[in-house]
Order: sequence, then structure tokens, then C-alpha cells
Amino acid sequence: THFGFRTVPLGDKQRMVDEVFHSVARRYDVMNDLMSLGLHRVWKDLLVSRIRPPKNDRPFRLLDVAGGTGDVSFRTIEAGGAGTSAVVADINGGMLGVGRERAASLGHAGKVEFVEANAEELPFPDKSFDAASIAFGIRNVPRMDKALSEMRRVLKPGGHCFVLEFSRVDVPGLDAIYDAYSFKAIPPMGRFVTGDAESYQYLVESIRRFPAPELFAQMMREAGLKRVGWTPLTGGIVCLHSGARI
Ligand code: SAM
Repeated sequence: THFGFRTVPLGDKQRMVDEVFHSVARRYDVMNDLMSLGLHRVWKDLLVSRIRPPKNDRPFRLLDVAGGTGDVSFRTIEAGGAGTSAVVADINGGMLGVGRERAASLGHAGKVEFVEANAEELPFPDKSFDAASIAFGIRNVPRMDKALSEMRRVLKPGGHCFVLEFSRVDVPGLDAIYDAYSFKAIPPMGRFVTGDAESYQYLVESIRRFPAPELFAQMMREAGLKRVGWTPLTGGIVCLHSGARI
């Protein structure tokens, strides 16, 4: 692409990503808490506050792309009123399976659907969702431009698209700590919990290759989204991007 961050052939990239998440699906939620020191909960709650599901019984349907084990959907359902529901779309059946079990034990089974789907080709009609989100997922998608235009396509006019993703630390001092943490602590932690350090090495590297906020915002505009903006969180460790379908 003209953004120049593609380094491995697309098919290989998706295969690597699939292996990583198949091997960690069972332990994915524990790993998330451990590796982010619980911060992913704070970031996801912020995302949900921007998704802003209505508190009353007005119908509101969220599409959570690369939704994995369902975190963002569950939080949105819990924050919203009786009319709020969600669809978790993910390419990985292992992650979705864990998500279905979690939905049942949380009592959300009737309000959330799990669909095996590639973000690049969403199996949903045009203009069918009130909001679309992708959290810590888009950097794994080989053709991010396709994922963005698909999210826009399935949004109703006036609906918002949100992308939560790791970004660039912009606080002096924190950058060195963050680097040491991600390259020295994360792979051994990954090995300890899942027996597989290489997968986590790959994930850390994919974070480094992800475009800076200005560039990603441009990609969102090119996908046809309007009112594009972003908010760095926690010193830029993570960035919340948003855009609207007008
Ligand atoms: N959104 C969840 C969360 O925040 O906990 C899961 C994030 S997990 C880091 C990344 C997810 O992206 C995995 O579940 C993986 O299967 C999914 N994924 C990777 N490539 C995908 C693709 N092309 N289409 C849809 N999902 C994909």
C-alpha cells in the first residue's frame, strides 16, 4: 500500500495472526489483564462511553469487529438500556467459542450474537448498525483500508465508527519504560502463560508497525468516514480513533 507498513505477504500475515489467537483463546482474557496491568478495562470503558448506547429501551445495535471473546460488546450491553444489542464478528472460531461461553455465564446470551467473519468482508447488509467498533484488532487485519470501508458500509447514516488501538507513547520517560516492558517483559510473560513467546513477540512488533495517529486518521477519511478525530490515552500507549458515516 502507499502507507508502506506491509512487510509480510498478506496470506502469511493472516495465518500467523490466526495461529496466535487459536493458541491463546482459552487464556486470552487472563493474558490481557496481566499484560496490560488491567488497563485494557479502562480503555474499553472509555470506548463504550463514546459508543454511548442509549439508557432507555430505544433499539441500538453495535457491531464489534475482531470482537474476540466479547468484552466490548458485553460492556456496551451493560452500559445501555433494554434495546441495546451487539454482534461480535471475528475470524477466529476459538475466540468466538470462549465468547459464547462468557455471554452465557454473564446472562447476555440473548443480546449478543457471535459471527465468524473476516473484517475485510463483513457478511452484513449496508446500513444495518448504529455503531461499529474494533478494539485491538485492526492492526492484525492485513488490509486495514478494506476493514474501514466495510465498517463504514454497514453503519447507518449518522452512526460512528471507533477504532481502539495501540499507538505511540508521547511522554518522555514513559517511552523508555514502555519499550523495556513490551520487549523484555511481554514475550516471557506470554511464554509463561501460554507456552508460546514467539506469538507475543509478533504482537509486540505489530504494535510498532501500526501507523501514527495522523496517518491512520487519513486512512479513515479515505474510507469515506467524516468528522475523523482521535484521542490519545495513557500517554499515547493507546489511541481512540473515531469517524462518522454521514
Ligand atoms: N476486541 C477484542 C478485545 O479487545 O479483547 C479482541 C482483540 S484480539 C487482540 C484481536 C482479535 O482480532 C482476535 O480475536 C483475532 O481473531 C481477530 N482478528 C484478526 N484478524 C481478523 C480479521 N481479518 N477479521 C476479523 N477478526 C480478526
